[in-house]
Amino acid sequence: MTFWTSKKLTEMTPEEWESLCDHCGKCCLHKLEDEETGEIFFTDVACKLLKINTCQCSHYSQRNELVPECLNIRTMDTSQYEWLPSTCAYRLLNDNQPLPTWHPLIKGNTKAMKKKGVSISNYAISESPKLDLEDHIIDWII
Ligand code: SF4
Ligand code: SF4
Repeated sequence: MTFWTSKKLTEMTPEEWESLCDHCGKCCLHKLEDEETGEIFFTDVACKLLKINTCQCSHYSQRNELVPECLNIRTMDTSQYEWLPSTCAYRLLNDNQPLPTWHPLIKGNTKAMKKKGVSISNYAISESPKLDLEDHIIDWII
């Protein structure tokens, strides 16, 4: 038994919780919501604080002060998990889905995840006032 199959998200230690993140960077992409349908669209434009090559936040401990719209997954209501990508471990476990076979906790490293193209590091661009987010909507293959 692994902690992610035996525990609920709310029962996990901070270390267990953090280890679920595969650092794909997808949650740090800007999103648009269709006001009429509620449909959420991801763009390839990343938050200004994201280090795109490593998919790490450059100011993680201050992120909520510096970027108020930053998603704090640990405190957000699970009804808001639709704002997370479908590959995100928190969304999957909350939906009683297994972790994907490429997940770093299963593989022991990030090679399979990167080979699958889950990380945004190969295509994301950093936010800029010149960019129109509607021109940057993307579809994921995974
Ligand atoms: S989408 Fe989920 S798994 Fe990917 S970086 Fe964000 S929190 Fe981590
Ligand atoms: S503040 Fe950091 S964690 Fe939040 S969206 Fe931006 S890069 Fe991601």
